[in-house]
Amino acid sequence: MIQRTFVALKPDAVQRGVMGEIISRFEKAGVKIIGMKMIWVDKEMSQKHYKAHVEKPFYPGLEKMITEGPVVGMVIEGVNSVELVRKLVGGTEPKGAAPGTIRGDFAHISYAYADEQNKAVKNLIHASGNKEEADYEVNLWFSNEELHSYKTVHEMHVF
Ligand code: GDP
Ligand code: MG
Repeated sequence: MIQRTFVALKPDAVQRGVMGEIISRFEKAGVKIIGMKMIWVDKEMSQKHYKAHVEKPFYPGLEKMITEGPVVGMVIEGVNSVELVRKLVGGTEPKGAAPGTIRGDFAHISYAYADEQNKAVKNLIHASGNKEEADYEVNLWFSNEELHSYKTVHEMHVF
């Protein structure tokens, strides 16, 4: 039941200065950040990370967005963390993302608006969509030496 999932604060989150506010939401939920680093993604890394989307019409805009500035990559560990993190992140399209979620609270635009401008929809954060994606992405972004084992105080109450 304890899973690892991959999260990235996209360039818009870094540039808007809301990294801390977003990371706080995960800390409050009691999940454990076991790896974290700032990386400037290049085209090759973008194609590996978004391999499921490379052929899609919105991919050029997506690649431009993810390579436009540094991102903060994290590995988050917790009980059913893949699903839990996606719940905190909210739906992909900010227009419909539920209030209280990261995407619902920090953004508002629609697919139609972003598509009209040939841009990826800016929604601040990436989180692995399922266990298989999480395993692939944790391995793509982090080496074993970059992932840490330690105890949080939450483990007494949450784990
Ligand atoms: P996620 O797993 O919720 O991030 O969503 P996806 O894996 O489906 O898409 C990856 C990213 O591509 C999203 O977070 C958006 O930034 C962008 N994106 C997805 N679908 C669309 C779309 O229809 N139009 C545009 N412009 N961008 C999209
Ligand atoms: Mg996805």
